[in-house]
Parts: sequence; structure tokens; C-alpha cells
Amino acid sequence: MTAVDLPSPVTPLASATGPGSDRLAQVRARAAARDTSRAARTRARAARHRRSVEELRHVVERGQAQLHAGSGRPEATAEEVVAWAVREFGPFLAVASSMQDLVLAHLVSRQLPFVDVLFGDTGYHFAETLGTRGAVEIEMDVDVVDVRPELTVAEQDAAHGPRLHDRDPEACCAMRKVAPMRDALQGYEAWATGVRRGETAARANAPLVTFDERNGVVKINPLAAWTDEEVAAYAERYGVVVNPLLADGYPSVGCAPCTQRVEAGQDARAGRWAGLDKTECGLHA
Ligand code: SF4
Repeated sequence: MTAVDLPSPVTPLASATGPGSDRLAQVRARAAARDTSRAARTRARAARHRRSVEELRHVVERGQAQLHAGSGRPEATAEEVVAWAVREFGPFLAVASSMQDLVLAHLVSRQLPFVDVLFGDTGYHFAETLGTRGAVEIEMDVDVVDVRPELTVAEQDAAHGPRLHDRDPEACCAMRKVAPMRDALQGYEAWATGVRRGETAARANAPLVTFDERNGVVKINPLAAWTDEEVAAYAERYGVVVNPLLADGYPSVGCAPCTQRVEAGQDARAGRWAGLDKTECGLHA
């Protein structure tokens, strides 16, 4: 079959009846609700100014007082942290996702349907990761925002030489992940991330709420206390979209050139920048 003979992916579905048409109607209804919600968030953001750094620092102090453990009070649960964030920031709240699993996005979307999910689309992702990104908008009440670098991979190769990730991964991450996310976050007051204390030594003291000095926004880590098992159990319970690479030897999924399978018993992030003295891309440093 030549390219011109390929059937349209839309027309046969549109005329189908039965279970397929139910599914199509569900997908279309979700897309329409997403458009409506996006327009409402845009109006809400236009209706009030984004708070200043000083104002946001005060919000962090209040949040820490309410949510962090203290005076015999236990740390707030992930749901309580999300509830606080939704109340406090509403349309100015975004969720970050690497499309590894969508547990955090699901958790937030239950309280803030069609929340913006910022995906750092570096141009170097596995096909499975891009497929996960596509599935998310079909299956979940979220609004994925592709956060892309200024240069395409080809433009970066021309300007800095090919395979910069091999020669200078810090510079590559800075251009393809850190700077674009910083720019994207200027439209929000807060971002929720999936950082968990059990992931690495550097994350062992991750707070539930902090001020993100690098990006000038509030950073919220609702899953900070969750274990791998709790994340997996939540995904199973709610049928949350997960990257198929998780079941293929990649417990931590990043860009394809910088992510390897790990051996049984190895640290989950051992496959990220393996062999290099680098454990973070800089987003959460
Ligand atoms: S993880 Fe690797 S390919 Fe991706 S931005 Fe960083 S250095 Fe570049």
C-alpha cells in the first residue's frame, strides 16, 4: 500500500457504531471539556496578576506551617497537600511530568481537572515516552503542555556539534530541559513535581512545600514521602497511564541517549547518565 492509499484514521471511526463509537464519543467529550477548561483557566489567569516573589514566599511560609510535621502533628498526606495547592494557586498551578508515570498528574487532576501538565519535550525521548504523552490526553483529565527548547536537535547539532549529551550533558540539559522549563513556569505561581525522598540521597530531605529559587515559583512535592510500592499501588488502583519502559528494565526514564536499563538490585536511577558524575538534570537541583 502506498502512502496515498492509507485510510484516514478519523473517517472510519467517525462513522462507526457500537463500542468503538462509544469510545470515540468519550475521547471527543474529554477533548471538548479540555478546551473549555483551558479557556476558563486562561480567563482566570488574566483576571488577576501573578503574585510577586515576596508574596509567594509568604505563601510558602503559610503552607509549611500547615502541611509540614511539627508540634506533634504528622506531615500532611499527598491529597491534603494537593488540596492546599489547588486552593492556594488554582489556575496558576502546573504539574511537571517526564511521562514516566502519571500518578502525580492523576492525583492533582482529581481535584483540579484538566490541570496543565508540563512535559519537557527535549527532542531526545524514547518512542515509548512520546506514546505515553499521546495516551495521557486520551485517557486522563489533564492538559499536556509541551515545553520545548529554543533549538531543535538539528539546530543544536549545527551550533554546538553533534551528540552534545555525550560531551557536555550539563550544557545539553541546561538548554533542553532547565531553561525551557524556567521560561514555561513564568506563567504560573507554583509547580507540583514527583520528587520523592526515597529516589536519591540528594532528594532525601525534599520538603512538601518550598520556594524554588531557580525558577521564582513555589515548588510542591506531594509525593515526597511515597515509596516505589505506594506509587505502583496507586497506578494499579486507578489504572493510571504508565510508560511501558518501566516494565522493560527502566525504573527511571529520561532521554534515550542518557538512559540505560538497570540490573536487578541496582538503584532505580543507576541507568541515568550511567558512568558519569551526574545524577540530576538540573530541574530539581
Ligand atoms: S538527559 Fe541527556 S539528552 Fe536529555 S537534555 Fe540531558 S544531556 Fe541532553
